[in-house]
Amino acid sequence: MKKFLKITSIVLVIALVAVFAACGGKGDTDTDEKTTLVMATNAAFPPYEYKEGDNFAGIDIEIAQAIADKLGMTLEIKDVEFGSIVGGVQTGKFDMGIAGMTVTDERLESVNFSTSYATGIQVVIVTEDSAIKSLDDLKGDGSMKFGVQQDTTGDIYASASVEEDGYGEENVIRYKTGADAVQALKTGKVQAVIIDNEPAKSFVAANEGLKILDGTWVEENYAIAIAKENTELLEDVNNALAELKSEGKLDSIISKYIPAE
Ligand code: GLN
Repeated sequence: MKKFLKITSIVLVIALVAVFAACGGKGDTDTDEKTTLVMATNAAFPPYEYKEGDNFAGIDIEIAQAIADKLGMTLEIKDVEFGSIVGGVQTGKFDMGIAGMTVTDERLESVNFSTSYATGIQVVIVTEDSAIKSLDDLKGDGSMKFGVQQDTTGDIYASASVEEDGYGEENVIRYKTGADAVQALKTGKVQAVIIDNEPAKSFVAANEGLKILDGTWVEENYAIAIAKENTELLEDVNNALAELKSEGKLDSIISKYIPAE
């Protein structure tokens, strides 16, 4: 009898703990139900993500906020190096990576991608007085240096093309941000910067004496990176994106930052 009582009281205690845990949702920080959506980005990529004083702004920031609103979650933004986003998403440090990030086969080996919400094109920025007049001139004499943002598709393409054109690894100079690569172009450390078209336009508008070469290179799809095992979030994000699209919200966010030409 005594033993029976002991067992029932243990069962009772477990049941009560379970009930309390289930009720504890609101007000508790993140213990049972997850309420924070952690996004990783690299906020030096206007108009997709950049800083305005202490605040984050840009297309990706607004899309992420709209998704978080739809999921009833609080958005938390982590500004990290571009190259650490995929790894951080893969290990669960961040719930998602939104950073004008191109869907590539290599990244797909580590993470899943949402449906694409925008496209980008790789372009080349040179100085206005540059001897490089067209994409063909990029082949040059082997002494030309290309500036890229490390670990981006610009980096990947530049590295592949220099090899094809008979240049060496030393001809690709990798910077932490696109803005740093553009600074290097202005000070003559590199002769061309390979980067996505919209940031290229922003950098050219903000810096005198630069221009974008005519002609497009590679077209890419931007999407949100999510851990492979987090299929629930992937589905939620895809549903939210589909809703934002049909409501016209996605287009209005994009056209706010990229006015139609
Ligand atoms: N679209 C490019 C990439 O995915 C650059 C992104 C970025 O620099 N934020 O690599």
